[in-house]
Amino acid sequence: MSKELIRLSNCSMAFDEDVVLNNINLHINDKEFLTLLGPSGCGKTTTLRIIGGFLKPTSGDVYFDGVRINDVPPHKRMVNTVFQKYALFTHLNVFENTAFGLKLQRPDGKKLDKSEIYSRVMEMLEIVSLKGFEKRSVTTLSGGQQQRVAIARALVNRPKVLLLDEPLGALDMRLRKDMQNELKRIQQMTGITFVYVTHDQEEALAMSDTVVVIESGVIQQIGTPEDIYNEPQNAFVADFIGESNIVDGIMLADGLVEIFGRKFKCLDRGFDHREHVDVVIRPEDIDIVSEKSGMLSGTVTSITFRGVLYDIIVDFKGFKWLIQTTDLSPVGSKIGIKIDPDGIHVMKKGPFSGMFGDYSSYSAEYDEIGDAEIEYEPDSSEDDYEV
Ligand code: ATP
Repeated sequence: MSKELIRLSNCSMAFDEDVVLNNINLHINDKEFLTLLGPSGCGKTTTLRIIGGFLKPTSGDVYFDGVRINDVPPHKRMVNTVFQKYALFTHLNVFENTAFGLKLQRPDGKKLDKSEIYSRVMEMLEIVSLKGFEKRSVTTLSGGQQQRVAIARALVNRPKVLLLDEPLGALDMRLRKDMQNELKRIQQMTGITFVYVTHDQEEALAMSDTVVVIESGVIQQIGTPEDIYNEPQNAFVADFIGESNIVDGIMLADGLVEIFGRKFKCLDRGFDHREHVDVVIRPEDIDIVSEKSGMLSGTVTSITFRGVLYDIIVDFKGFKWLIQTTDLSPVGSKIGIKIDPDGIHVMKKGPFSGMFGDYSSYSAEYDEIGDAEIEYEPDSSEDDYEV
């Protein structure tokens, strides 16, 4: 197990009366790639700036290696930052840009000699795949190459932690994907702890060891990318990470939930008998079958071809689900669906219940087709599942 490096303990931040971070508790391990993920304005950058020492929390404590560092200024923290606007020095070449921080006096008062600077810069340019570019003017580099110079410049001082604030935001999609792989490789190669800020959930899932989902200044969930995707703790996380159908359900027993009056086996346990819950069903976990053999049946209201898969919107008694499938079912056709127990994820009701997970707006133009006929049929065998 990696050891803990940074801890935010009960950290809150307010600007005037406006609370933008509300009691954040978070620890970051040595050599971890941790991503702060959330929509614009949720408090990601504020959290990063508190870690970097650019902001002091209104209340709460920040620890580095077990030592409280609330009053330690940024240049005395073993932390460096890469921003989206990385502001390279255009009059300096790649080598000089990378060496810049090394030529300054260090916190211990010493200066590095020339040969040490040379070997450190060359080592770093090799790590970021820019060996041979030393003499190039940074103005002649592509966006991705410039970003790599910015990363080399930030890493050459050998910080314990690198803070990255949407560093790929200015790059086009293809370059962004390449740089995601590069960043992950650089992080693994250097063993430096990365704290990464993004609003892009795909980016967060692809790169991180740990994802911290934030909304309105509150941490909604902390977990591995797999945890966050497969076991979202509330409707906000389920909706923000990937596509989700989120419907009301009633827990009948451990491993059994009622949706639209039908019983579905699931793997979830530990809820009260007949507790009202939110049920998440990912679009790729729904199988289309004939109307008769389906656990539910509904009407296809829209189809969008996505390359490998079709996005199909199906109307179940007015609630519209997204299904991703290779099977083409024409608009207006009645279909049945099947969902395996591991395709159903049950969550407690909470403040985000009812706000997400219906795809009505996706297919508003098909509304005239009308609702599918699914009647509520309370099942007399329900008592079999009494707990
Ligand atoms: P984005 O992805 O858009 O950068 P973010 O999640 O990083 O968003 P923050 O920059 O942390 O969000 O901002 C959180 C909230 O705090 C926002 O409402 C922002 O307007 C507010 N805020 C941030 N800095 C200040 C400041 N110095 N003074 C007043 N309000 C601030």
